[in-house]
Amino acid sequence: MALADDFDGFLVDLDGVVWIGREPVPGAAETLRALIDAGKEIVFVTNNPGRPPATYAERLRGAGIPVAEDRVVTAGVVTARLAAENVGAGTDAFVIGAPGLKQTATEAGLELLDGEAGREAGVVLVSGHREFDYEELLTATLALQHGAALFATSRDPTLPMPGGPWPGTGAVLAAVETASGAHAEIGGKPERHLFDQARALIGDAERVAMVGDRIASDIDGARRAGLTTILVLTGASSREQAEVADPPPDHVVDDLPGLLR
Ligand SMILES: [Mg+2]
Repeated sequence: MALADDFDGFLVDLDGVVWIGREPVPGAAETLRALIDAGKEIVFVTNNPGRPPATYAERLRGAGIPVAEDRVVTAGVVTARLAAENVGAGTDAFVIGAPGLKQTATEAGLELLDGEAGREAGVVLVSGHREFDYEELLTATLALQHGAALFATSRDPTLPMPGGPWPGTGAVLAAVETASGAHAEIGGKPERHLFDQARALIGDAERVAMVGDRIASDIDGARRAGLTTILVLTGASSREQAEVADPPPDHVVDDLPGLLR
């Protein structure tokens, strides 16, 4: 009997599970198709806020996985909504992040300030992106010194990439928190917000597991959210790390196809 038979639904992480950078994990697409064909409920959950859910859904469909946009939950969407709920729609915001996160923040009702104007923002949103620079750090720091609220998509230190991990949101956030003395509220994994939104999409399926590659976010967060946890070894965390984790993941498989073995 395959491990997947024990579950009616899965929350599935993307980076390090379905793909690594732009490279697909071998067998991942076929596995997801087989699970969907078998009637399993699947929601994709990612701490990567670089793109809106529609773009990730399109990329998944391009890999042959039939998935609707509303079955992808990103830390960007969750964090932007969380921030807007806390500070109120219409609040001026300074966003450190990719264009996708800025778009998401606007859709959540925040008013984006660019450049030096950002020093007056009432809320600062942070996620890792490749154009992060000192000016952004300075703007965010001054806004936070003036009392802005701080939200970030995660504390993931790195992002799995084909040639080795790249600096992630946690690295950028550390700079912002160090300079400002502020402490961010996190919208993405391992906090509950993202798991709760994703879990609600699965409806009344009772046996639900989280499949992820990073113990500190996917596994620890899912356990606290009441889900069974399955670690795959194609991304951030190793079998050795799983063995010393306390408590360890409920299941460890080499890769996504391991769910069907
Ligand atoms: Mg991951």
